[in-house]
Amino acid sequence: MRLTRLFLLTTGLLLSLVTALLLHSSWADWRHVDASELGLAAMQRAYLAMKVAETASAERGPAIPVLNDTEPPDPAKRARLTDFRHATDTALDQALAAVAGLADPASVSARAQLEQARTELARARVEVDRVAALPHAERSAPGRRLTRAPIDQMFAVIDTVLGAVTTQSAAAEAVYPELAMPLVGARYAAELREYAGRLGSQFTTPLATQLPLERGDEREIAVLTGRIEQLRKLISLQARVSRASAPLQAAIATMEARYFGVGLPLVRELTERGQSGQPYGLDSAAFVGRYVPPMKSIVELRDTLFAAARDDATARVAAVRRDMAINATLGLAVLCIELTVFLLIRHRVLLPLLRGTRGMNAIMDGRDLPSDHLPPVTREDEIGDMQRAVAALRDATLRRRALEAEREQLIGQLRVASDTDFLTGLPNRRAFAEQAARLLAQGRRHGWPLALLVFDLDHFKRINDQHGHPAGDAVLRAVAELARCQVRQGELLARYGGEEFIILAIDCRPAEAALLAERLREALADNPVVLPGDVRLQVTASFGLACTEARALLDLDSLYREADRALYRAKAEGRNRVCRSEPAARLDAG
Ligand code: GH3
Ligand code: MG
Ligand code: MG
Repeated sequence: MRLTRLFLLTTGLLLSLVTALLLHSSWADWRHVDASELGLAAMQRAYLAMKVAETASAERGPAIPVLNDTEPPDPAKRARLTDFRHATDTALDQALAAVAGLADPASVSARAQLEQARTELARARVEVDRVAALPHAERSAPGRRLTRAPIDQMFAVIDTVLGAVTTQSAAAEAVYPELAMPLVGARYAAELREYAGRLGSQFTTPLATQLPLERGDEREIAVLTGRIEQLRKLISLQARVSRASAPLQAAIATMEARYFGVGLPLVRELTERGQSGQPYGLDSAAFVGRYVPPMKSIVELRDTLFAAARDDATARVAAVRRDMAINATLGLAVLCIELTVFLLIRHRVLLPLLRGTRGMNAIMDGRDLPSDHLPPVTREDEIGDMQRAVAALRDATLRRRALEAEREQLIGQLRVASDTDFLTGLPNRRAFAEQAARLLAQGRRHGWPLALLVFDLDHFKRINDQHGHPAGDAVLRAVAELARCQVRQGELLARYGGEEFIILAIDCRPAEAALLAERLREALADNPVVLPGDVRLQVTASFGLACTEARALLDLDSLYREADRALYRAKAEGRNRVCRSEPAARLDAG
């Protein structure tokens, strides 16, 4: 596998893994935050339900005077009851609003319990109003206890509300098991407040009538006192087990001093008096004035416990949120670093490596390098070293290529020089032999007739002797030029040696060849060579012609020998003439 692909694959895999890990941990963190917030919200809802229990419990206070009111009824007592009922309704509305629209089982159940409490409360209030509307004599008839029924209905409301408290509190405890102590403690305190209230209610009628306690009252007082002591023990046990904080210990101490030190002893004293038939020594209002204020310390303890749980839960929510933020930030940082490393390696190592490799391949293949393959090297690292090495290789290659081109050019020039006669510029004998062999082969392939014409200047030695060697040279150049003008495409002209020239014509019949020879001879004879000093020299030449038939298998040497013999004859027969090669049969045929 290519390194770039492998790198891409592993990086992609790593990025995917880190992203998956990040998403998974973020999801888990978010779930934790969500659960913590839900737990805190359940705690708040439990507190709102406790407030409902507290206000509904307090509502009994003004209901009792209204139930026991004489004629004509006291509007102030009615107004006070209305105020308390309003407070209960407000608390109930708030508690119901807090669970409205929630779908979790605890909230659904709490909503049902609160709705039930609202219905029970409405029924209890109707009963309070109905009994209060009866004539006083009927209501206060001893033994009938008409005023007890609506109060008992009010008790039932609190039991229902405390059920909602327990439901929500349990939901909060499920999220924060470590906060069970303050939560359970707060619920105990709420119950304690309720039973303390109920205990007080037991004395309203006896104190109003100043009659001894009835048997039912005594039993009820014993049960309530027992429950109150039980709750007191449970609260102090919870506090001891969980090593309660200083504010909590202070709240417990206050409750011990106020309710258990003042409120409950007052109830015990009145119970004893009520049992033994002694006068109570105080009326209903005085009792309320002495008994109700100490009960506040129970509510305060409840609030202290609840505040401890709520503060702790709030801190935990903040902590898990912070953890989530830290985890997400760290995860993102890891992702960013990984991405940066990937890009760095890609840009600083892989791509330069790739460019270097392509550059080297291009150098090896002899292609031209695109400039971006080898940008100016400024880097000082290992990749920079590699890039410099490639650049050096390229420079060396370019130099080598330039040298090779120069050499090729020189070879070309040499070849031309070695093939060319320096005096006339015509191909020399060697070049003629080479090119003629090729033409001969071509002619044979096509079955063409060929002609070889050899001509030699007449009495050339005399020109040299009479006008000097340079003049001889000038004559040779002039003759070459004139012959060059006469030859056509497919006719190869060369200086064969000394003052002898040769022409090979392909696809040329003997008659055409004879015409060419005659044309050349005449051109020479008719055009005197003009030398410096306006010396005009009449130059003639003798021509020997050899022709081949179509598809004849003659080689160049044989053809030349024939032409040379014909030239010899031309010289012998008086010069300045064209002779065709023997045998005579051929000449006749031409
Ligand atoms: P013929 O008509 O029988 O051919 O007589 P010729 O004088 O032309 O023949 P010969 O063979 O006796 O002389 C040829 C002369 O050509 C001899 C030589 O000095 C001269 N020659 C050969 N090559 C050159 C050259 O390149 N330049 C000059 N100026 N003279 C040359
Ligand atoms: Mg000669
Ligand atoms: Mg000659």
